[in-house]
Amino acid sequence: MLPDSRPRVAMISEHASPLAVLGSTDAGGQNVYVDQVGRNLARLGCRVDVFSRLDDHVQEPVVQMEPGVRAVGIEAGPPSFLPKDDLWPLMPAFLDGIRRFAAQEGCVYDVIHGNFWMSGWVTVQLASQLRIPKVQIFHALGLTKRRHQGHADSSPRDRIAVERSIVRNVDRMIAQCPSERDELIHDYDADIDHITIIPSAVDTSRFRPLDRAGARRSLGLPSEAAIIGYIGRMQPRKDVGNILRATALLRATTTADPMVIVVGGESSEPDPVLTPEIGRLQDLASELGIQHLVHFYGKRQPDDLPLFYAAADVIVSTPWYEPFGLTPLEAMACGRPFIGSHVGGIPFTIRDGETGLLVPPKEPTALSEALRVVLECPESAARMGHLGRRRVEREFTWSTTATRTLNLYMEVIESYERKQIMEIGARAGAGAPPVLLDALPSRGVGIGIPHRDPDTDAA
Ligand code: UDP
Repeated sequence: MLPDSRPRVAMISEHASPLAVLGSTDAGGQNVYVDQVGRNLARLGCRVDVFSRLDDHVQEPVVQMEPGVRAVGIEAGPPSFLPKDDLWPLMPAFLDGIRRFAAQEGCVYDVIHGNFWMSGWVTVQLASQLRIPKVQIFHALGLTKRRHQGHADSSPRDRIAVERSIVRNVDRMIAQCPSERDELIHDYDADIDHITIIPSAVDTSRFRPLDRAGARRSLGLPSEAAIIGYIGRMQPRKDVGNILRATALLRATTTADPMVIVVGGESSEPDPVLTPEIGRLQDLASELGIQHLVHFYGKRQPDDLPLFYAAADVIVSTPWYEPFGLTPLEAMACGRPFIGSHVGGIPFTIRDGETGLLVPPKEPTALSEALRVVLECPESAARMGHLGRRRVEREFTWSTTATRTLNLYMEVIESYERKQIMEIGARAGAGAPPVLLDALPSRGVGIGIPHRDPDTDAA
């Protein structure tokens, strides 16, 4: 790479396309990440291709998202939605498709950035063939998922072994917060020097404070009621049921009669058939006698979300575990207090008592008490919202995330090039004839995949 030029980046994200409509089972934080990091790297002068599996037959395979950044859909399996846990056997085809695209377009990438474990596998294979450095961000780790979900974890059996291999083979890993770094070190024996913490962020111009009364009018919500909001994927691990239980407890112990608004699901209208989790929560709300207070909205586009954030008095998310969590940042950007469980990235982004409150997961009594504190004191809730907005403006913008990511790429590229030169020097010193960089053998990586010989894959 020329010293002054910005790197050309291949970002791999097999199931999470930057073009997806968010809120459904497999479309959430990772989609936002590749979209925002891709765009912001392009604004810094990088050229970025974001590769994901083509999962919609009407989608154009190549979409110019803005100057310098393209979303590239690669055919691997049927061009329709498949759950992400079914994609692992399709990874060789996905890898071949990326390779073919790069060759046809004459793309010479300087760095590959993998997202999630399957794309990590693709990243290691591809980077080894192209002899360029590789950076990995996992977004979520298999061992954590297995710990929390046990038999309900439907991840492919190979996941954890593949993750371990990626940890050993990439040049650098990005952790979004200290707890993710610690998981990599303690669960995967990662070398601390190979991990850089780069927090994800929020689009502070899209997510901004709006007038509460106006937002409620637009959504047809009552102006006086206390409103608790949840925005996110409808997954058991997000434990929206905990919010419903806490709301019922709050009603039983105070005079408050709060409503709950729930945004997310497989369709833009709430449908318990398409989103069984919504059905489960509707049943729970009926059992708790609060069905008339809980409103489901289905999934909504990011541009619509500031209205929902603004309409609520407090935003809550109490997952069992959370690798990072973008919705706490979005709530803060919208000037709303956030109550979250004390897990994963949430204690890193939310300042307890300052921009929100932290509670233990799976404890509706603790949550109902935190809700009471926030809802009964609008002045301190407003102050938390104000401090939250200040915090994200200072600490969590995507341009900062992209700048840190670009610095990481430059560091990794430089040290990779240095290593290659030293390898050439060592060969020459050992009496071997000098070789051109292009002729250096690619390194085998030894990560298996069903139906493929790992050695052949790495060749
Ligand atoms: N989201 C959305 N529409 C919805 C529900 C969620 O755009 O109907 C977005 C939400 O705003 C956030 C992302 O999906 O940006 C969820 O990310 P988070 O990190 O909170 O959770 P993850 O999906 O990674 O588990």
